[in-house]
Amino acid sequence: MFDYDVIVVGCGPAGLMAMRELASRGVKALGIDMKTRLDRNFRSASGFFVTDQEFNGENIHLETVGDKMLVHYEKCGFTIEYPGLMEPVYHSAMYSNSTVPYTITTTKKPILHFFNATTWLSGRHQAAVESGAKFLIRTLVTKVKEIPGGVEVTCRQNGKKWKLTCRKLIAADGLQSRITRELGFNRTRGSMGIGPTIEYEFVGVECPLPRGDIYAFGEQMIGQRGQIFMVPSWRGKDAYRVETAAQLPAIRNYQIIEHFTKQSPLAHWFKNAKVVEKSGAVVELMPPIKVPRTQNILIIGDAPSFAEVLYQGATMCGYMAGVAAEKELKGQNGYDDWVQWWNSTFEWNINPQRMGDYTKRFLFGRLLGSKTMDMLFELAAKYPLVAL
Ligand SMILES: Cc1cc2nc3c(=O)[nH]c(=O)nc-3n(C[C@H](O)[C@H](O)[C@H](O)COP(=O)(O)OP(=O)(O)OC[C@H]3O[C@@H](n4cnc5c(N)ncnc54)[C@H](O)[C@@H]3O)c2cc1C
Repeated sequence: MFDYDVIVVGCGPAGLMAMRELASRGVKALGIDMKTRLDRNFRSASGFFVTDQEFNGENIHLETVGDKMLVHYEKCGFTIEYPGLMEPVYHSAMYSNSTVPYTITTTKKPILHFFNATTWLSGRHQAAVESGAKFLIRTLVTKVKEIPGGVEVTCRQNGKKWKLTCRKLIAADGLQSRITRELGFNRTRGSMGIGPTIEYEFVGVECPLPRGDIYAFGEQMIGQRGQIFMVPSWRGKDAYRVETAAQLPAIRNYQIIEHFTKQSPLAHWFKNAKVVEKSGAVVELMPPIKVPRTQNILIIGDAPSFAEVLYQGATMCGYMAGVAAEKELKGQNGYDDWVQWWNSTFEWNINPQRMGDYTKRFLFGRLLGSKTMDMLFELAAKYPLVAL
């Protein structure tokens, strides 16, 4: 006799969506997370959201209904509600040492949308609870082990340890997945680099550019190699999140933000600005796990991925995992179906070259010196890109 049909470890966007799907299908499931709240985002997240184009095997379409948005996953065939409005973004600007940015503008279709990660999680959490999903928070899963016919899960809370059992387990424990590591999946993956990032959220920023994402590189701008991303925040028209990408040691990230906001040629934008939130993350880039399953455990979301599946990808991983686990409980090959979907959906599973393309986006600020960057930016500034 098992305690649960399914246990979901990790209740970020992937785990919450899996829980919602399982609960709405009448499966006896439990979601476990070490966080104190499931309806809030605590980690850095820029808020990029890609819509109305083929991206990671899906085409997501947004529909505004009053003060909410419906998010339609056209290929996976489901819709969720986002309890707020995402901001369309038509502008992007990049600075090197010069104060003249290279700009990209679209006139009809937004380049992308910005969403609030906390709004996304609160919507997913509420939908799961309304479907009858049960959660155990402030609880760390320290071990999962295959046992005959199911999985044994070791939990720890306030120094107390106990075990639960389930027939099927979904591991959605994120980028630094303990489950993936302990099951031995990381032994052959190798590491493609590790990078810390920190994010300061500011209000009162006097930025003269139209709202959009802004990138800065070069010694005058950030004091060293690396880069700054500055993205609009939902907090208000003068609110921005400023994030870093730098090498270890992590202190460099702090130095980059301090330099950019206090000493760079753009520091005057921050003269009257206040920091309202700080967060951080460490991202290790590892190739994806091609077959992220054992007999009764399916690993989903960031845990088996290259870099990140993003909120939009994590949510579809969760939906598809809920469907897959229910099939498994009925004696069908749901996990095999999920693995096939995983390998035919995410771009870096289909074409490993995409891992290189992604990595270059983050590394070029580290690899190119200021003079080269300036030359490229001066050339580019002469030819701003305007697209439909
Ligand atoms: C700096 C940064 C910027 C980003 N920007 C964007 C962006 O602009 N747009 C976007 O869509 N995505 C962005 N992402 C990526 C996005 O955050 C992830 O792809 C997404 O959160 C993955 O969802 P997940 O559910 O798989 O994992 P996570 O969101 O990582 O959730 C994992 C959950 O598991 C829990 N957990 C972990 N281990 C255990 C354990 N042992 N026991 C119990 N609970 C555990 C954690 O508390 C957490 O709640 C960004 C990520 C970073 C780091």
